[in-house]
Amino acid sequence: MFKLAERIRALPPYLFADIDRRKAEAIARGMDVIDLGVGDPVEPTPKHVIERLCEAVRDPANHRYPSYTGSMDFREAVVRWYRRKAGIELDPEAQVLTLIGAKEGLAHLPWAFVDPGDLVLVPDPGYPVYRNATVMTGGTPYPVPLLEEREFLPDISSLPEDVAKKAKLLFLNFPSNPTGAVATREFFREVVEFARRYGLIVVHDAAYSEVTYDGFVHPSFLEVPGALEVGIEVHSLSKTYNMTGWRLGWAAGNEEVLEGLGRVKTNVDSGAFQAVQFAGIAALDGPDEHVERQRAIYQERRDMVVRGLEEVGLKVFRPKAGCYVWCRVPEGYTSEGFVGRLIDEAGVVVTPGVGFGEHGEGYFRVSLTVPTGRLREAVERLKNLKLQGVL
Ligand SMILES: *Cc1c(COP(=O)(O)O)cnc(C)c1O
Repeated sequence: MFKLAERIRALPPYLFADIDRRKAEAIARGMDVIDLGVGDPVEPTPKHVIERLCEAVRDPANHRYPSYTGSMDFREAVVRWYRRKAGIELDPEAQVLTLIGAKEGLAHLPWAFVDPGDLVLVPDPGYPVYRNATVMTGGTPYPVPLLEEREFLPDISSLPEDVAKKAKLLFLNFPSNPTGAVATREFFREVVEFARRYGLIVVHDAAYSEVTYDGFVHPSFLEVPGALEVGIEVHSLSKTYNMTGWRLGWAAGNEEVLEGLGRVKTNVDSGAFQAVQFAGIAALDGPDEHVERQRAIYQERRDMVVRGLEEVGLKVFRPKAGCYVWCRVPEGYTSEGFVGRLIDEAGVVVTPGVGFGEHGEGYFRVSLTVPTGRLREAVERLKNLKLQGVL
């Protein structure tokens, strides 16, 4: 009855209707379906963070409108976090902005800087928010392929000159969802140089920077010389502290970019609940044992999944970081065809790579954010399919 706005009609179609239908059918058949599709940690938020929220929620001062840019206390905690993690100094006033989750900031950013017709460089395969937020502002997403032969790092130098000139923003995401690839300082330096040459804004989504394996430490984009002149890093408490439902994150870096994003936000939302920001301070200040424990849990799951899928004969990309395992589908399948087959035959749901962009075709993603026992069961089912000759 009501015609949707062009910006909504321009969004790419929902890709997973067929997958959803096959999953519902499997459940209706009485199958015990294991969903390895979503990235939402099952472990609870650390206790000291919950305690801090309970305390803060009782204080009437926190019942009022929060500051648009975030409480100074939270932004100072972010500054301490960067000092401790990356050895860099930020100004809490001008170089940090509180977000209602990373997704909120990522989705609002194009509204500040993208005009209709501007290009926005988005990783492909990548988190769909970069592309869809661009489409909603009337900008044109330009997919930057993440290819297996380059270990899923984008080849910035090969982007056509006219594309680079027309591009307003460059979205990056390392550790990567969905590929698990990580960035090097050298790569970030190349990005800074590229952004300077073409005058574009870099937006690095570091949601998984703390979920790392084998002692690996992921660099921050902001620690590279010149990064503060060209861009921002967007962060989230969701994956590091199992706080997806709390909705808290931040953007840090270039003042002008944060100022632009802040202007969108003052006209859209009224900031993150102050009590949640106090809980966020408790998370960021530590103790960090929880983060260590969570890394160990994911690492055990990663090892089990990588080993299991390799036994099944699949080509697996062992991640150094992130909550996912990226894997090639067997010869002769599309990613959706293979995922549909897994649901029908084994009751196991994974995400088809094509859902993250056209260069995700031929791959699928397994989420490690499910209980270890369920993950083990899923791997056993795939091994059985192999034994039966189905795979
Ligand atoms: C989960 C995820 C986010 C979302 O973070 P929130 O703070 O929960 O909004 C951002 N970026 C990527 C790549 C993610 O996978």
